[in-house]
Amino acid sequence: MNNTKAYSAAGATSPLASTKINRRDPTEHDVQIEILFCGVCHSDVHQVRNEWSSVMPTVYPIVPGHEMVGRVTRIGRAVAKYKPGDLAAVGCMVDSDGNCPHCQSGLEQFCPNMILTFNSPDRHLGGVTYGGYSETIVVDERFVLRVPPNLNLAGAAPLLCAGITTFSPMRRWGVTKGRKVGVVGLGGLGHMAVKFAHAFGAHVVVFTTSPGKKADALRLGADEVVVSRDANEMQKHTGSFDFILDAVSAHHDINAYINLVRPDGTITIVGAPEKPLAVSAFSLLIGRRNLSGSLIGGIKETQEMLDFCGKHNITADVEVIPIQKVNEAYERLLKADVKYRFSIDMASLKSE
Ligand SMILES: [Zn+2]
Ligand SMILES: [Zn+2]
Repeated sequence: MNNTKAYSAAGATSPLASTKINRRDPTEHDVQIEILFCGVCHSDVHQVRNEWSSVMPTVYPIVPGHEMVGRVTRIGRAVAKYKPGDLAAVGCMVDSDGNCPHCQSGLEQFCPNMILTFNSPDRHLGGVTYGGYSETIVVDERFVLRVPPNLNLAGAAPLLCAGITTFSPMRRWGVTKGRKVGVVGLGGLGHMAVKFAHAFGAHVVVFTTSPGKKADALRLGADEVVVSRDANEMQKHTGSFDFILDAVSAHHDINAYINLVRPDGTITIVGAPEKPLAVSAFSLLIGRRNLSGSLIGGIKETQEMLDFCGKHNITADVEVIPIQKVNEAYERLLKADVKYRFSIDMASLKSE
């Protein structure tokens, strides 16, 4: 019954390798998509290696990947929004109950019955869902997104996770023209945050530990770059930011950034350091500052983000790799040796 080529890992210490998995035939509301590009997200690595075992233990074999763009190949009888040949995208979620308060308000990511694109219970076939490191995927049309045709497809794939993860909190906290916005960490998430904040018309300040990233930050749309190790430079920005996005996944002193937020301003965490961050109560009390988190975005907002990217021609900066290089890419990702996201050319899977 296994009808689809894919790459999977058999265990927490196994490399990803060629395999075959089963995909269902499209049911009434399903869309079958041939995957053309799939981004490599840090959470792919975490879950392949079972590093989130306390929250969501990995079921093996795992097929990761939740940043997909492709082309519709088949549709179920009741599908109205898509037809074969259309460009389509799938992100981190493939299903939800559709009727809880979160789903009703377009926040499917908080639905108690939300199904993640990989390593979530598969209600159709049993076992777990398999992600985008594969030839095709079959998804309920409610979770399929439209891709503006002008976008470079390899660079569009990471919008489905890195893009929406940074777009959503900026929308929520009112990043618009004239606001002063900080971005901490210039990686897969951070570089998208810079592009969005710049496109919103904000004054964008990038914080980095490596002075070598300065030129690139400016190229991506930053107005200023602050080397965070320079206490003097940091001091100059005290209490001045409307909004700061903290995209650092390594341990760091967040108080240094909270102190830069203006009264009633907000700092939002989107990175996930393994250990708890120590927060000084005084940093929050002074200026009544908000400390918040954010998790991807709902389907409606993800579509808005893609449409915004189409209008402003925004995509991720990617290094395109064949799937055969994915294990090497994981090692390089852990060393931050990529500008700024790997995107797998899924045509490379055909030779397996
Ligand atoms: Zn992701
Ligand atoms: Zn729900």
